[in-house]
Amino acid sequence: MENLVREFVCPNCGESETISTIMCREEKEKGHIPEGAFVSMEKVVSPIMGSGGPVGLTVPGILVHYDVCNRCGTRYCVRAEKIKMPISMTIPKQNQEPFGGFHRQ
Ligand SMILES: [Zn+2]
Repeated sequence: MENLVREFVCPNCGESETISTIMCREEKEKGHIPEGAFVSMEKVVSPIMGSGGPVGLTVPGILVHYDVCNRCGTRYCVRAEKIKMPISMTIPKQNQEPFGGFHRQ
């Protein structure tokens, strides 16, 4: 599968550091977070489902990271990537709206 990753800077001021990168820097230096791991405040996952339904144990999905700009406080999408996600993540939990192809986790 092609590794598709898009990264964005703050659309308001152009800053690339987010609150999460600042707040987690100490933990990274201590080794609590693996080097190179991407940290973000909020993650939204959407499966990509064709009309044929899922095949196998994983389905392709889109993972979008949201965070807050360290300089101006704007909340924006910092990173989007295509992932493989377990099918169990795509099944709506009780009391959640049924999903029609796309489902907010
Ligand atoms: Zn900003």
